Amino acid sequence: EGARRARRVTILGSTGSIGVNTLDLIRFAREQGEATYEVEALTANSNVGLLAEQARRFRPRYVAVADPSKQAELEAALDGLEVEIGAGPEAIEEAAARDADWVMAAIVGAAGLRPTLRAAKRGATIALANKECLVCAGDILKAAIAAAGGELLPVDSEHNAIFQVFDFERPERVSRLILTASGGPFRCWSKAEMAAATPAQAVAHPNWSMGAKISVDSATMMNKGLELIEAAHIFPISSENIEIIVHPQSVIHSMVEYVDGSVLAQLGAPDMRTPIAYTLAWPERMQSPSARLDLADIARLDFEAPDPERFPALRLAREAVRRGGVFPAALNAANEIAVAAFLNGQLKFLDIAAITEQVLDRVGRRNGPAMLSTLEEAVAVDEEARRLAAEAVAARAAA
Ligand code: NAD
Ligand code: MG
Repeated sequence: EGARRARRVTILGSTGSIGVNTLDLIRFAREQGEATYEVEALTANSNVGLLAEQARRFRPRYVAVADPSKQAELEAALDGLEVEIGAGPEAIEEAAARDADWVMAAIVGAAGLRPTLRAAKRGATIALANKECLVCAGDILKAAIAAAGGELLPVDSEHNAIFQVFDFERPERVSRLILTASGGPFRCWSKAEMAAATPAQAVAHPNWSMGAKISVDSATMMNKGLELIEAAHIFPISSENIEIIVHPQSVIHSMVEYVDGSVLAQLGAPDMRTPIAYTLAWPERMQSPSARLDLADIARLDFEAPDPERFPALRLAREAVRRGGVFPAALNAANEIAVAAFLNGQLKFLDIAAITEQVLDRVGRRNGPAMLSTLEEAVAVDEEARRLAAEAVAARAAA
């Protein structure tokens, strides 16, 4: 014991909710003297203050900020520390390219695609929180991981749950995946109430504390739509055999049904440090300071079918994955633009799904490649859908 080699880790998006939780586990492991983790690189979009604080505490070899205008500020904040510093989107790719065995992909949105792919191509173990990467370019990312002999470990709590109970050796014995959804902050709201929802109301998630974008996705339930697509990439099962069930307590993180009717589930308190710890220690397990389940205190678990009328994002995602090709990438890009516009006060809450649907309709009338097989193709679809979504947002703002 204790002879385990230190694992060298890089965190892409270390200043976000997932990044901070990942570093908290590394701190905890160090304090326990259990297994040690060396930090190769940390990256952020623009939060130089937190990035510098993390660098002083965790002593990475490299830190990078995506916003090039923040370079001087980062250099000043790290004055006297022995660390290499980079700025701009290429610096984030450089961070991913550096020699870490394990890379946490925790950038939000398709912005994480290039760096994640870069880490995948050199055979790193990819702990994937950044679900938009798989939605936008799942086949490309999976092919890169397979070619380099790396691993993809899902961090998303639902996929992590399924990963823990899925029989990868005998997948033909699996009949169904059951993805649980909290239902988000508007689970019990009427459509009229949702029409007037503010960004502050949308980001106030009942069970999880997360970044703004995924919080809005939870409110529209597009998060579960993206997770449906994510699951169809990670597990050898058709999207038609993936069901979504609302479970407001977020205790059962998802389930796998086998052909004999047995259903296996993974449970835990809603604390992302549990699935992150699973990927950080994999294939071992590590101690985690995560909250523990107190079932007597929880007393009951509830379930309900999602309402397709109030949450049209679920239908849009299901259609996109069924049609395949350019549609999932277009869905993701349009949603990213619409969510950003909602958060900026340019768009009403229900218009997020409306804009996304409009973009998918327009994309459907063009002839894109049947399969996205290169990064360039995926990026082209992403950019086109962003442009169409921005036009649609502007048209609504003008109306
Ligand atoms: P967040 O907004 O809190 O953090 C995002 C991180 O990405 C930050 O470090 C930010 O600096 C960085 N970033 C943002 N834009 C960037 C860009 N253009 N270039 C480089 N870096 C950039 O988000 P989060 O809640 O931590 O979520 C991160 C990812 O994990 C998302 O894809 C989300 O869907 C997924 N996820 C999050 C949770 C959760 O509990 N927070 C759960 C499951 C999945
Ligand atoms: Mg999730």
